[in-house]
Amino acid sequence: MSRYLKENYQALEEYTPGEQPKDGEYIKLNTNESPFPPAPSVVEALKGEDVEKLRLYSDPTMSVLKGKLANLYGVKDENIYLSNGSDDILNFAFMAFGQDGAVFPEITYGFYSVFAELHGIGYECVPLREDFTVDYKDYLKRDKLVVIANPNAPTGDMRPLWEIEEIIKSNPDNVVVIDEAYVDFGGESAYPLIDKYDNLLVVRTFSKSRCMAGARLGYAIASKGIISDLEKLKYSTNPYNINRLTATLGEATVDAEEYYQEKCKEIMSVREYTKERLEAMGFLVLSSKANFLFAKHNKINGEKLYLELKARHILVRHFTNDKIKNFNRITIGTKEQMDKLLEATQEILKGETI
Ligand SMILES: *Cc1c(COP(=O)(O)O)cnc(C)c1O
Repeated sequence: MSRYLKENYQALEEYTPGEQPKDGEYIKLNTNESPFPPAPSVVEALKGEDVEKLRLYSDPTMSVLKGKLANLYGVKDENIYLSNGSDDILNFAFMAFGQDGAVFPEITYGFYSVFAELHGIGYECVPLREDFTVDYKDYLKRDKLVVIANPNAPTGDMRPLWEIEEIIKSNPDNVVVIDEAYVDFGGESAYPLIDKYDNLLVVRTFSKSRCMAGARLGYAIASKGIISDLEKLKYSTNPYNINRLTATLGEATVDAEEYYQEKCKEIMSVREYTKERLEAMGFLVLSSKANFLFAKHNKINGEKLYLELKARHILVRHFTNDKIKNFNRITIGTKEQMDKLLEATQEILKGETI
């Protein structure tokens, strides 16, 4: 740290991203990326892109991509905001709507508390229920910015839409953010409620179900008012927040909706297969509507399993937080990758004495 850093940033604890090894020798099941490539038509679209045009700025209104997304979801262009990954939207949400403080689950996406700290927002972390699910009653009439990942991470728990609606309805004077990074793997989206509730901000990403984590593309669906607030912050920080290549990829991705639906189905079926196999080995596996499983085994502690798998070139995500330190979050890869994980896990467990 230099002596020039503003005092209020000095104690900031930054978010720790999952490991991204440079060599290709790992089966990567640690950051919830897709094991599948983007659709062939998306790859083609990039080939057709005129690199010479990179000398020009991208379109700050992103009107083409906005139009395609609005059409896909049956909303208006004015209800869509596009950003460089969805983390940017979450950051803006805390920056713009956190004046009364924020509330979110204790076990959830680690970035929420970082954004709250970054913007000097007081926040409350509500414990999950015993079974690691979110109790919607904890978020009623809070008069604060409410942030819920649905499905939640790293647990995979999905709350039904009626519970989400109760939360939105009971906090009319504050924004309720529903982070739907994993909604395409069997969740139920809240976006159809934007016409009914002007305080609802739905946040989505192309990083997981759209196989494009490296391109950095996220979007929000919300009332016209909330979208214009986000646009105001964008035009006050980085008007060209999406580059030309990513915009092209995004457009082709929306056009290839069927391909992605297909891949999501495949992930969901491999998820259920992996869950059954892990349970047969004695794991406790939380029910998940995301592209990962959260699992623990009483014969081996979470960190040891993570390290043993890593030694066998399989990366999963381990968190050190006391309440979940015996779990690992395992991203769903291809069936072949999961079979390798299961085989390695079986072998590791054999070496453990009770
Ligand atoms: C991955 C993830 C995001 C962020 O994704 P981006 O790559 O920034 O779009 C947001 N929320 C949750 C819960 C996530 O797991």
